[in-house]
Amino acid sequence: MKVLIADDSLVMRRLLQATLEGWGFEVVCAADGAEALACLQGKDPPRMAILDWIMPVMTGPEVCQKVRDLRSETYTYLILLTSKSQREDIVEGMGAGADDYVVKPFDKHELEVRLRAGRRILDLQMELMQAQEALREQATRDPLTGCWNRRVILEALERETERAERERRSLAVVMLDVDHFKTVNDTYGHSAGDEALRQVVQRVTGVIRGYDWIGRIGGEEFLIVLPGCDELCTLSHAERLRNSIERTPVDSDGQQIGITVSVGATSLQPGLGITPQLLVRSADAALYAAKRQGRNRVSFQLPERIDRVRSASR
Ligand code: GH3
Ligand code: MG
Ligand code: MG
Repeated sequence: MKVLIADDSLVMRRLLQATLEGWGFEVVCAADGAEALACLQGKDPPRMAILDWIMPVMTGPEVCQKVRDLRSETYTYLILLTSKSQREDIVEGMGAGADDYVVKPFDKHELEVRLRAGRRILDLQMELMQAQEALREQATRDPLTGCWNRRVILEALERETERAERERRSLAVVMLDVDHFKTVNDTYGHSAGDEALRQVVQRVTGVIRGYDWIGRIGGEEFLIVLPGCDELCTLSHAERLRNSIERTPVDSDGQQIGITVSVGATSLQPGLGITPQLLVRSADAALYAAKRQGRNRVSFQLPERIDRVRSASR
């Protein structure tokens, strides 16, 4: 673990550095408060710091205060090292945001156990953050394919629709459904079917851009949201998606399984009061048209309100 030592005395820095390195810590040093703060805010910062109280530019407690003001997601454990040992000094230091303090001249064993206590707290915090991240994943991702789940993709559609209206940009919504998927399961087994779904998501992800969205909204049905995509762009993207699935068979444990998808697409033009619900309904209607027309194809349908506006102006 990396530890920052901030002290204006070179002798003290050398002593602390040698001691901490002897205990297996990686050490970085700063000679004043500003340097210490810059180090704690820099790239790959130390998660633990031993700060002298009185230093040029900025005192130890001031550094503590500034670090706490940042409210960074990963916690920095701060120990004040000071010759000040009055009760009010300690209250002031801890009040500024220090986690602990050690009085100079320091006792090696005391410093070691205090560092160890700090490390325990940092480890716990890391575990907590990992657990939180895992919960976030569970709440937002489809566990089989890793793409967004139904709730997240529908929320994304809601937000992107609002944004498209606000910024007067177009937006494409694409619904994709695997053809005769029941037969795939029946012929090759359920786990081959699962692999096919994973590969569908992988291939779609390879075709869409970083700021596009793909989410699983049903068993073998996916919703794809493409911000800034007009009718022409929607059609070409939808066709590329369809082709990316048909082009190469899915490999499941050495078995080559040819699958195809039907794609229903629609696009929003701003200023016509199109809602996310209308977009989903149009994409769904287009998907069913693609199925009716024989599957493995793209069908496009404008949201009904645009249709109405257009036919009225004809
Ligand atoms: P169509 O071309 O009309 O879409 O026919 P289809 O067979 O794909 O459609 P249908 O709705 O009849 O069947 C969907 C199948 O998808 C049935 C269901 O067992 C399967 N399925 C749903 N979720 C999963 C899953 O997570 N894994 C696997 N392997 N199969 C799934
Ligand atoms: Mg299907
Ligand atoms: Mg389906």
